[in-house]
Amino acid sequence: MDIGSIDFQINLLKKIFDLIRIVDPINNKVISVTCNKSIDKIHNKNCYNFWNHNQMCKNCISLKAYNEKETLIKFEHLGDKTYLVMATPIVDDDSTYVVESIKDITDSKIISDSQNIDLVLLYKGVENINKLAFTDELTGAYNRRYINEKLPKDILKSQKNSTPLSLVMMDIDCFKNINDNYNHAVGDYVLKETIKIISKNIRLNSDWIARYGGEEFIIVFKNANIDIAYMLAERIRNAIQNYEFIYNNIKIQVTASFGISSISKKISTKDLLLNDADKYLYHAKINGRNRVEK
Ligand code: GH3
Ligand code: MG
Ligand code: MG
Repeated sequence: MDIGSIDFQINLLKKIFDLIRIVDPINNKVISVTCNKSIDKIHNKNCYNFWNHNQMCKNCISLKAYNEKETLIKFEHLGDKTYLVMATPIVDDDSTYVVESIKDITDSKIISDSQNIDLVLLYKGVENINKLAFTDELTGAYNRRYINEKLPKDILKSQKNSTPLSLVMMDIDCFKNINDNYNHAVGDYVLKETIKIISKNIRLNSDWIARYGGEEFIIVFKNANIDIAYMLAERIRNAIQNYEFIYNNIKIQVTASFGISSISKKISTKDLLLNDADKYLYHAKINGRNRVEK
């Protein structure tokens, strides 16, 4: 694709924004930077370095814009500055580019006219909005949106680097009974506690957990083939079975079932991977629950 062909649009954007970058959101690379003001650290290798992150931003607006083929806007803050970020995908059949237009709005009218605005609260608000976009409120795990955006990217990377990637789909056994025998609050407690157990048993810097549905979660293991993922799922299954779930002196026995799938020539997309793991989860249920199947 000819990056130069969008120079005209970039010149227009330059009149409104402080910094325009073209990024490749799949590989987190900055392709080009056009800057009006002296904004520190703009010539970064990886796009997320601008935000002082050392890994992909969780609420990556450019990946979302790229996936949805739509222009999207968000607020972000860095140090004591607040920025407006607009992400516009460059629509081209095989492009992976997004134009990011960034404006420092710290001293803009919206903020300076509101004398009583508490900047700390404002930053927290911006942070919370961005966090809510990819987090499940109850458990703190990632949400379905995160799955939809991050999983295809992780699959692409694994295919490109020829490294394995496995997905575990987990469903709490007879969870309806927990809600029915006790109450919904006990059910919620079990969900939150289960996520804590899983978090302790995975490498949070590379692997991730997301809530797929009510009492269903997915765990993505990078660099793990099906046998390693099986072993890791077994460890989590054991940890849940042996954990003392106690809520207001009520002791609850909890178990979960697991289905595993890995990417291969045949299973090469998000949906195929999810469907395959779901199929094995179903096997685990019909084979007696509290099991891992691959
Ligand atoms: P199985 O072993 O076959 O998975 O049986 P199950 O009872 O776990 O499965 P089922 O799908 O019948 O029930 C899931 C229940 O999860 C039903 C729903 O009310 C409950 N649930 C979904 N989301 C939440 C939530 O956020 N909190 C609580 N407390 N319950 C929830
Ligand atoms: Mg269940
Ligand atoms: Mg279920």
